[in-house]
Amino acid sequence: MKTASLATIPFVDLKAQYQTIKSEIDDAVSKTIEETAFIGGARVKDLEEGFARFSGTRYAIGCSSGTTALHLAMVSAGIGPGDEVITASHTFVATAEGILHAGADPIFVDVDPEDYCLDLAQVEKAITPRTKAIIPVHIYGQLADMDPLLALAKKHNLIVIEDAAQAHGAALGDRKAGSMGLMGCFSFYPGKNLGAYGDAGIVTTDDEAHYENIQALANHGRETKYTHKIIGYNYRIDGIQAAVLNVKLKHIADWNRSRQRIAHRYTELLSGIDGVRAPVERRGHVYHLYVIQVDDREGLAKALAADNIQSGVHYPVPLHMQPCFKHLPGWGEGKHPVTEKLAKRILSLPMFPELTEEQQDRVVESVRKFVG
Ligand SMILES: *Cc1c(COP(=O)(O)O)cnc(C)c1O
Repeated sequence: MKTASLATIPFVDLKAQYQTIKSEIDDAVSKTIEETAFIGGARVKDLEEGFARFSGTRYAIGCSSGTTALHLAMVSAGIGPGDEVITASHTFVATAEGILHAGADPIFVDVDPEDYCLDLAQVEKAITPRTKAIIPVHIYGQLADMDPLLALAKKHNLIVIEDAAQAHGAALGDRKAGSMGLMGCFSFYPGKNLGAYGDAGIVTTDDEAHYENIQALANHGRETKYTHKIIGYNYRIDGIQAAVLNVKLKHIADWNRSRQRIAHRYTELLSGIDGVRAPVERRGHVYHLYVIQVDDREGLAKALAADNIQSGVHYPVPLHMQPCFKHLPGWGEGKHPVTEKLAKRILSLPMFPELTEEQQDRVVESVRKFVG
């Protein structure tokens, strides 16, 4: 087969998505520029109201990224020096940055080998008198096991803040990502299920005091224009990003359904290939990523690349083994076997709502050729 002549299948195709909404986006962006509504304003307010409604929360506060959303949530929750915050080692580095920027210590624990979310037995073991909060990560778009986690948190009087950066719209019944903890933190990084055209993020909450506090924190702690009641940050969201996100918010439910359809088709097609472990769907999965496990991950990535198919690894280095966290307690190889094993075996296949069946068939054939 002369695969070299086939067009590249991208990992994510943001251009294909733009083509489907181009006139709406162009219109919204140029209106924002005409209005010079670059920071704050009506489009940000629309986004906050729209996203809160979408997530089933009373409030949402736009901010500059998922990372700053996490930092804002930590600070507003009163988490600081001397506190410990338990989270997964199997996540993107930003989950820990939010904790560290607030001055607290992240305590990394292992994940469940089936769904890759926090292993609650490990969470319970990690609780100490210094523990102040737990951050479940809805990794790859699948909800963490929130009911037992919330019960455990309640028993130990701990705050729960959801890292929902990969899980916009993930739901168990009518309970949505970002609505179950005290606060939920979302990223609008361009490649996320709901992506801006630059950096942006949002915090969701039902709590009015945190809503007001985070609004102030993200905007220099200001009370009135030049009176600052608390020391804050410049973590605001741009008007243009909000304008883009308002357009996309109308489509996110459809896009999530497409991701689910594509994921289910992948799982069905891959089930015939020995040596490929497809994702296990347990709780409200919106498939930000479609992650398989194989013995020879590097080999498969190379074989896909030779067939002009892009892939990714999320994430190759567990947080408890990151060079930048060497100073933290619990650092070093051998601590969290599930996470460490995953880091060597996982591969993310192309996943985006516009992925066609023909493209998908090519991906599966390429996997079959190498693994099968
Ligand atoms: C993307 C991501 C973040 C950080 O979001 P940014 O907008 O890139 O700052 C945090 N946590 C997880 C799990 C993510 O995937």
